[in-house]
Amino acid sequence: MSTVDTVREGAVVSLAYTLRLQSGEVVDFSEADEPLEYLHGADNIIPGLERELIGLHIGDKKDVKVEATDGYGEYDATDVEVVPRKTLPKDMELKLGTALMIQDEDGNISEAFVREISPTSVTLDFNHPLAGQQLFFSVEVIGVREATEEEIAHGHPHGVFEEDEFDEFEEDDEFYDEFDDDDEDLEDEEDFEDEEEDDSPDTV
Ligand code: ZN
Repeated sequence: MSTVDTVREGAVVSLAYTLRLQSGEVVDFSEADEPLEYLHGADNIIPGLERELIGLHIGDKKDVKVEATDGYGEYDATDVEVVPRKTLPKDMELKLGTALMIQDEDGNISEAFVREISPTSVTLDFNHPLAGQQLFFSVEVIGVREATEEEIAHGHPHGVFEEDEFDEFEEDDEFYDEFDDDDEDLEDEEDFEDEEEDDSPDTV
């Protein structure tokens, strides 16, 4: 079995963490009995945090401050669009703060958050909800192990007890790839539904 006990490239790391904003507001956390697992060196977590974890051992705790540029980027005030309400699907449930998957004329899909709703228009914000924020992590390393070859190849960890949710998405992609480009709408709809069920932002 693995004798790896230090956070480094190619290790699967389990983290308990709390993420606070400068205001002290807790925006995300994961407790020791249900830690976040990530593959170190595979862009699974934001760079400003990943970098500061290198060399930590199981049981180590650390406070890490991440500037916006090393987190979710600066807030871009031009990355906001007001769209006529009639351009959005009629059955779309519009609530402030809801994440929507929006497709532009070129077929590119981006995530946007509903910022304002008027009778005739909707203001969509394409910034990440944590853009422009300094992030304050308190982390504890719960576990470190060597990644399997399969995990390295996939670029993410595989859970021991649960279905691999990452691979479910990958399988979906393969499934849809069998269709022609004409059927891309189908995939877009699927993505959209997935997104609506979970409107909590991915924070790490
Ligand atoms: Zn996988």
